[in-house]
Amino acid sequence: MSMKARAKTRLQVADYVKGIQSGNRILLSRAITLLESSLPSDRKLAESIIEKNLPRTGQSVRVGITGTPGVGKSTFIEALGKYLTSQKRKVAVLAVDPSSQKTKGSILGDKTRMEELSRDPLAYVRPSATHNSLGGVAHATRETVLLCEAAGYDVILIETVGVGQSETAVRGMTDFFLLLMLPGSGDELQGIKKGIMEMADGITITKSDGDNLKRAKQAQLDFQHALHLFTAPESGVLPKVVLSSALEKKGIKETWQLIEDYKTKTTQSGFFTHQRNEQNLNWFHEQIDVLIKNKISQQKKSKATLSGLEEKILSAKLSPGKAAALLLKTMKLTF
Ligand code: GDP
Repeated sequence: MSMKARAKTRLQVADYVKGIQSGNRILLSRAITLLESSLPSDRKLAESIIEKNLPRTGQSVRVGITGTPGVGKSTFIEALGKYLTSQKRKVAVLAVDPSSQKTKGSILGDKTRMEELSRDPLAYVRPSATHNSLGGVAHATRETVLLCEAAGYDVILIETVGVGQSETAVRGMTDFFLLLMLPGSGDELQGIKKGIMEMADGITITKSDGDNLKRAKQAQLDFQHALHLFTAPESGVLPKVVLSSALEKKGIKETWQLIEDYKTKTTQSGFFTHQRNEQNLNWFHEQIDVLIKNKISQQKKSKATLSGLEEKILSAKLSPGKAAALLLKTMKLTF
């Protein structure tokens, strides 16, 4: 074993905690790798690191950013990140991309994205966690948020791609959910998933430059109108639509202002803390599900029982509900 490798294994909880709290990005990255690990010893270490950092967490604004591939997410996030670091804010960019572990190629792209922001000493850019389930990715990302906060990042941007369940997961771990949309006409509005628009606390129309500008302005009116047709949001703050161009560096500050205003209003009303508390409780319940599922897939015995029960369901000898209860009974988990 080389000196370097030996030094690596010798790090203790206190070394990580000290490193993270002093803003050491290498130790932060290594702690995140531990919490993403499937090795029980790594997980245990990661949990201790998180516990020790808990008093230093919660002080950031957590922003979810979504939009279909090609809408300009990475270009926009890089521009927003650079704007924030120019204001001396510390920015962490995380991603939730459940496609990356299934296909080995991610929709959100690889580490070469946001090169300029990655080199910024006030920024930390981390690619999506890899896990075999969205629940696993979500859990790892939530823990990563806590470590980034302990490291002093006061803005956390969590990017996700506009497909599947990942939006709901990111919405459930952020204070403000920003939807990026392309300039388009009212006709195109029909194609947008209503559910995603309903989740948005704000919309930014990207690429509002050159030939797009006229269409972008029309889209702004259309989206603003559509948003008013939805039931009033629980936050009490009506979502607004902003035009932006990452290329021309326009609308970046205005988008940030939207988030600041939202934070001020929801802090005053108490919704900000209320939502965070709800999210923590949901996290707790979701994690119970994840742990039970992991246990089932880890235990050899339960794997065998699982396929036996599947056969019985397929041959109509057992109902799915009864089979589920039987499986948990053999694992000594009774409900
Ligand atoms: P993502 O897939 O959502 O992350 O999108 P990207 O950030 O990779 O951008 C997709 C394409 O849109 C790239 O070719 C960008 O150069 C282009 N693009 C991004 N932002 C802007 C913008 O503000 N204006 C214009 N005209 N093009 C942009």
